[in-house]
Amino acid sequence: MSLPALKRVLLKLSGEVLMGGQQFGIDPEFVAELAKEVKAAKETGLEICLVIGGGNIFRGMAGAAKGMDRAQADYMGMLATVMNALAMQNALEQLGVQTRVQSAIEMDKVCEPVIRRRAERHLEKGRVVIFAAGVGAPYFTTDSGAALRAAEMKCDALLKGTSVDGVYDSDPKQNPDATRFDTVTYDRVLADNLKVMDASAVALCRDNRIPIVVFSIREKGNLARVLAGEGVQTIVQDS
Ligand code: UDP
Repeated sequence: MSLPALKRVLLKLSGEVLMGGQQFGIDPEFVAELAKEVKAAKETGLEICLVIGGGNIFRGMAGAAKGMDRAQADYMGMLATVMNALAMQNALEQLGVQTRVQSAIEMDKVCEPVIRRRAERHLEKGRVVIFAAGVGAPYFTTDSGAALRAAEMKCDALLKGTSVDGVYDSDPKQNPDATRFDTVTYDRVLADNLKVMDASAVALCRDNRIPIVVFSIREKGNLARVLAGEGVQTIVQDS
């Protein structure tokens, strides 16, 4: 199994990678490094949609576990993703990359609302479009937001840049014998509940035949390697 030719991709970054070496929040120096990787990928001619999580600031499940109303906590999580989107927009524009942020929760003083046809136009003009606030509804994650935007923007692949270098048959932090898949099917991921993305995101990618590429974005140059088909990664797609 290998990837199709990529013209347009959706890059999903976990919020936690924006922390760099910190325990919480946004490290602007590390965000600048990530922006360099995105810029280099764009310079290969790719059209790039970006989705950034919010886990470095707030996760609804964590709030709910401490007694908060889940929906209220999820709205806070969605607002966190908007902060991350603005941080990445700032870093990209400082490198001369044109961007637009589109949020699923309207906040017109800060960014555009999600309008698919407008996003298309931005991509045509060579802008990176950063989609914020997930799907705009509680009880979802930004992985589902990423799968949704990848489908509606007709992306050739969803690249999930995270802290681990792929999908393992068990948690590599708990089990030293865990092995990484080079490729794995959507159905195996769902049946074995492998930790890639939440089930709704995986199912949406499966139903729309969008390959998911899981890789570590923490190592410098990894995005370029993965795009060149050389990096350490796991590809989730049909067999
Ligand atoms: N969230 C939500 N609906 C969405 C996307 C996100 O309610 O469509 C909330 C949810 O609370 C989630 C938080 O925003 O925990 C941050 O997103 P996520 O946990 O996906 O971030 P990541 O793990 O990628 O950093």
